[in-house]
Amino acid sequence: MTRPDQLRLLAVHAHPDDESSKGAATMAKYVAEGVRVMVATCTGGERGSVLNPAMDRPEVWERLPQIRAEEMAKARDILGVEQEFLGFVDSGLPEGDPLPPLPEGCFALVPVEEAAAPLVALIRRFRPHVLTTYDERGGYPHPDHIKTHEVSMHAFDAAGDPDRYPELGEPWQPSKLYYHMSFTLPRTKALHEAILATGAESPYTEWLANWDPARDISHRVTTRVPCGEYFAVRDAALIAHATQIDPLGRWFACPIETQQEIWPTEDYELARSLVDTPVPEDDLFAGLRSEVGVR
Ligand SMILES: [Zn+2]
Repeated sequence: MTRPDQLRLLAVHAHPDDESSKGAATMAKYVAEGVRVMVATCTGGERGSVLNPAMDRPEVWERLPQIRAEEMAKARDILGVEQEFLGFVDSGLPEGDPLPPLPEGCFALVPVEEAAAPLVALIRRFRPHVLTTYDERGGYPHPDHIKTHEVSMHAFDAAGDPDRYPELGEPWQPSKLYYHMSFTLPRTKALHEAILATGAESPYTEWLANWDPARDISHRVTTRVPCGEYFAVRDAALIAHATQIDPLGRWFACPIETQQEIWPTEDYELARSLVDTPVPEDDLFAGLRSEVGVR
């Protein structure tokens, strides 16, 4: 199933649509270069809401889980990636004060040893050289995103160990693991200023006003992947998630040409590496290409 001379990337995400908002242009670029790219989607997004006013209709709400799977299939085809659901149930984003308890049986409540098993099995089957996932804060404070981080770290360490999960296939150790650093303060500021310069209103004004600089993660970026020519593919994949993405919303406030000019990369933190690779780098496979025998 896997060719020894082919590079492989596995992107672990919490919900359908996360793959299109974090690292999508990077994936499209690597697919175009002949890399095999797999998206692992931990949950079905069953507890997501409908965030696009045009889709907020009873017949959509009635079959939201199926619709989200269909949207995922469209986005997958647009990005040119393979994709698998890991089979967990969306935890929903708890809201209120105090926060309500998480729903029984949801992904965030599954013990990590058990929650990581399907990902360990997928790593052993797909044999990725590189994994991408979220940082320890989930990149966004959703319980499923934090769980996705925990499960990814657990699986990265366990997949190569023959003593762990021995029933799940031949051990395989990925070489690198990255965190998405998609929504940094400098990037958001740059987009905000570019939008204001056109005379339009920026959807980031309130966001930036409430941004605690102590929570900025931009100093952690080690790796900036140039992928501006795939921003249109990223946007098409996002729009395929029609229940989740308002085509008139803030995702699309800054024209693609402007983004290509001011911030033509997607950014990452190299969190684990078993190969020598000096940072900063501009390629998730830096340090691996000669080892695998491809350029
Ligand atoms: Zn999500």
